Amino acid sequence: MCKNMPPLELAIQFHGHICPGLLIGVRAAEFARQYLEVDQDHDEELVTIVETDSCGVDAIQAILGCTFGKGNLIFKDYGKNVYTVASREKGRAIRMAQKFGAAKWRESDRFRILSRQSDLSEAEANEKESLLGVLFEKIMSMPFEDLFNWQEVAMDIPEKARIHPTVQCAVCGEGVMETRAEKTDKGWICAPCRMKGGVE
Ligand SMILES: [Zn+2]
Ligand SMILES: [Zn+2]
Repeated sequence: MCKNMPPLELAIQFHGHICPGLLIGVRAAEFARQYLEVDQDHDEELVTIVETDSCGVDAIQAILGCTFGKGNLIFKDYGKNVYTVASREKGRAIRMAQKFGAAKWRESDRFRILSRQSDLSEAEANEKESLLGVLFEKIMSMPFEDLFNWQEVAMDIPEKARIHPTVQCAVCGEGVMETRAEKTDKGWICAPCRMKGGVE
């Protein structure tokens, strides 16, 4: 990813399309970055806990550099637009929760309907495009406190991700991270093989 790209561009490129959810994530990522006075993460200086797996998370990954692969993006499947960003260096964390009903306008409802439709007429495609323009303006310019409730929180920042040894599953023969394998008297067994009934 290009370091000199503006945050919004980074997020759009990473996510593949512009949508209201992504833009809300951009606002959260940018707010956290400014509040904590941090730059994009290189080596797990930052950790983000996300409580959703929807569009906004991609803004967190692209802008803050907290990614699934680096292990500094922690997903809790709560279905809530809540992001907690922590800085190891600063020893500080901020929790941002999207306000209930925020960024919900007539335009967002209509945009959602059109987004679900697969074959849009030319008129509908144009309408969707202009709705996105309106939503873009609204989301990117609204006061952050109208969009999110936020507060600094005390957080036990998880340790940096460790690389664990790989062992070989005695059933399928594939490699598996030791901490995810179960040791039996037949040897290590991976989770899918355990679920299939493993060895007898
Ligand atoms: Zn999206
Ligand atoms: Zn296996």
